[in-house]
Amino acid sequence: MRLVKMIAQVDMDGCIGCKICERICPTLAMEVVEGKAKVNFELCLSCGNCQQRCPEEAIKMVKREKPFTVFVDPEQVDKKEIERICARAKMNPEQLACYCTETRVKEVVAAILLGADTPEKISQKTGIRTGCKVECIQPALRLLEAADIKPERPEGYQWYGRTPTIWDITDEIKELYSGRGFYFDADIELLEKIARQKENHEEGKNE
Ligand code: SF4
Ligand code: SF4
Ligand code: SF4
Repeated sequence: MRLVKMIAQVDMDGCIGCKICERICPTLAMEVVEGKAKVNFELCLSCGNCQQRCPEEAIKMVKREKPFTVFVDPEQVDKKEIERICARAKMNPEQLACYCTETRVKEVVAAILLGADTPEKISQKTGIRTGCKVECIQPALRLLEAADIKPERPEGYQWYGRTPTIWDITDEIKELYSGRGFYFDADIELLEKIARQKENHEEGKNE
């Protein structure tokens, strides 16, 4: 969920058409047309990324006349499907996917189930990746992968590969580190035991 109060505004005289803003916008709201950057009024979720990176300081953030909220209600989709995708991604539906916008994993999965098949579309619908922008793309990529969606990497700087989790560690690496005090399999077992206990607890509460 993201409350959008501001919008990027480009100073046409200052813009040199370098396209940096286009490449780093998480919602694809910036487009350089005929050498000048243009902001899509509806897609700009006021993250400030473009303003912070414009080499000519040609962008400022201004107040919107009418603030709005982007949000996907997880109640719109099948709860079992959300749980299935979260389990495949090894993520809890209630955990935060984006701290800045307080967007939970279940909202991101709901957006995916409603047709958001790229990180950019997920951002447009939920607002994730429009806050501090430090580690943005990881939850989106993990959840898309768990939903069997492999988005094409667009031209731009806002993409980087998904970081591995403990479940991705190969036997070769486990073997290599086995004598150095790492217990990957035991850790996986413990994490899955905690997840099962939590699931049982939730089911007990719903009965
Ligand atoms: S980053 Fe700045 S100078 Fe470059 S295209 Fe965008 S607004 Fe223009
Ligand atoms: S980078 Fe952020 S502030 Fe700039 S246009 Fe895109 S969403 Fe709006
Ligand atoms: S790094 Fe991105 S996804 Fe994470 S809290 Fe900041 S804005 Fe949200």
